[in-house]
Amino acid sequence: MTQITPKPGIMDIKLYVSGESKLAGRDQVLKLSSNENPSGSSPATRAAFAEAATDLHRYPSTDHASLRRAIGEVHGLDPERIICGVGSDEVLQFVVQAFAGVGDEVITTEHGFSMYPILARMYGATPVTVPERERRIDVDAVLAAVTPRTKIVFIANPGNPTGTMLTADELEKLASGLPGHVLLVHDGAYTEFAGDFDGGVSLVDRFPNVVMTRTFSKIYGLGGLRIGWGYAQRPLIEVLTRLRQPFNLSNAQLAAAEAAVRDQDFVDMCAALNEQMRDWLHQVLNQMGIGCDVSYANFVLARFANPDEAEAADAALRDAGILVRRVGGYGLPAALRITVGDEEGTSRVVEALRRFMTSRR
Ligand code: PMP
Repeated sequence: MTQITPKPGIMDIKLYVSGESKLAGRDQVLKLSSNENPSGSSPATRAAFAEAATDLHRYPSTDHASLRRAIGEVHGLDPERIICGVGSDEVLQFVVQAFAGVGDEVITTEHGFSMYPILARMYGATPVTVPERERRIDVDAVLAAVTPRTKIVFIANPGNPTGTMLTADELEKLASGLPGHVLLVHDGAYTEFAGDFDGGVSLVDRFPNVVMTRTFSKIYGLGGLRIGWGYAQRPLIEVLTRLRQPFNLSNAQLAAAEAAVRDQDFVDMCAALNEQMRDWLHQVLNQMGIGCDVSYANFVLARFANPDEAEAADAALRDAGILVRRVGGYGLPAALRITVGDEEGTSRVVEALRRFMTSRR
């Protein structure tokens, strides 16, 4: 009898844990566990998606030219320097697949996004985790961790689940301090919630070893559509494109994403609502004695006195029909990551946490 044996290291890959969506015994839950958009997606986007359904017998575009042109126009970028993928996860995967393998190191940070080490291990590379300082990426520590084996440095900016951001000076120091053979991945999944931040464009324009990724899953409310994109200088995009399957995105994905990127009014409305609710949540959590850093994303990280208190707060939120995210797996066992909801959702979170904190006194 033959035994099926995977390549070494495959069974060491941790499985990604996604935000919960169901609560036993409840039909209705307020899901604030996956940083989804409380306003859903824009009507123009859904119309474009439905319209694309008439063309299901046709193969989709292989070069994504129309979508790349739309992204280029809206963001003022060269479409030839854009690559689109099945979520930004796929673009991150192309990067690892192209640049890191057995014997190579991939740097991530203490509270970094959990897909980075998963992707590193998928291609046999070794993830190296660098400590953060007070839930912020420590640029000096990252630079100090670089070895001749380092191939990629992953940062999310704003970070998930911390919500914190590097300053422009820190980013500059990081990009200019890395040796030219190390690729810096600037993951901008939450860029649109961070005010007028360019998401890493100016870094990409100046450094040939920087790639920036973006997603349609957050501000565009299209997590279910699975589409993201990357931006880098031409030689890098030409490498990544070699790894992209010709039909990785469907007609419906392409059409909906193009409509979404062109619907700037919807994006502006979502960003304004998020800012208002996030800042309110931040303020009331601090008033209640729950630790909360300033967040530049569409979630806040609520820090409790200890892991037991975070667990009790999570239970209290569940009793109120609210699902948030435990982030012990991200090195934050005393914290809960709470997606910013709409006004009603945010009010429910505030009330439930207020009741919880009052009961603990
Ligand atoms: N990067 C970060 C920091 C994220 O939080 C996420 C979503 N959880 C992603 C990338 C992946 O997003 P998607 O594949 O949906 O574009």
